Amino acid sequence: MICPNCKSEVAEDARFCPRCGSPLLEKEMFLMSTTPTIPGYRISRVLGVITAITPRTRGVLGKFIASWQTMLGGEVTAFTKELEKARKEAMERLKERARSLGANAIVGVDFETSDLGIGAGVVVVSATGTAVLVEPEGAL
Ligand SMILES: [Zn+2]
Repeated sequence: MICPNCKSEVAEDARFCPRCGSPLLEKEMFLMSTTPTIPGYRISRVLGVITAITPRTRGVLGKFIASWQTMLGGEVTAFTKELEKARKEAMERLKERARSLGANAIVGVDFETSDLGIGAGVVVVSATGTAVLVEPEGAL
């Protein structure tokens, strides 16, 4: 792969660029699981419980579409899309937080969604999990 910082060719499994020393985060192993353990890995350290909250508002158009779909019945796709986005964002934030603690995995990931009312158009997605350090089972 190519180092995003200095554009030099580095090994696929490198965690840091050997030339400029910048961390190659995209390729770094990071595991997230809703279960308390990850098969094939052993938790070597628990770094703490982390939370990420993403309040979101839907745009005026989204709100309009949602109310239209509510009238027609069926799945509110405008809403689903927004929720998916919010979950993704919450997950990214959770990951960032875990990384800042030095974790390489999050176990017991859980999502909670609160709707502050369809009129308010605000949805709060919170993600919690336990930041841990894992290593492949069988490693010394
Ligand atoms: Zn580099």
